[in-house]
Amino acid sequence: MGCLFCDIANGIVKSDCIYENDDVIAFHDIYPQAPHHVLIIPKQHISTLNDINDQQIELMGSLSIAAKHIAAELDIADAGYRLVMNCNADAGQTVFHIHMHLLAGRQLAWPPG
Ligand code: 5GP
Ligand code: ZN
Repeated sequence: MGCLFCDIANGIVKSDCIYENDDVIAFHDIYPQAPHHVLIIPKQHISTLNDINDQQIELMGSLSIAAKHIAAELDIADAGYRLVMNCNADAGQTVFHIHMHLLAGRQLAWPPG
């Protein structure tokens, strides 16, 4: 079955990429929920957080390191930002290729809805 985020990672579907390295790519969310809303994904297909394994520890760390670089680039590091990963239905996951949301640019409520 096709995967939207694999297609974005492979350049088949267009996105406005703002960060990329060998393992990770990041682009703006098409329906932003904050002034800054970036999605950071592994290029490798992993459906949900339930599917990660011990061989992917470094890859999972790369998502957070990418977020740090993007926050610096967007000049939001000091003001603050939120990183979110949704897993399955109760969390509201809609795209089944794991992704980290980076949200910033406004006061974010806690707890989230
Ligand atoms: P989830 O709900 O799975 O945690 O997050 C999926 C995110 O992907 C949503 O915030 C949604 O707006 C975003 N999204 C869905 N389709 C596209 C698309 O085609 N392009 C981009 N850039 N974002 C998308
Ligand atoms: Zn995928």
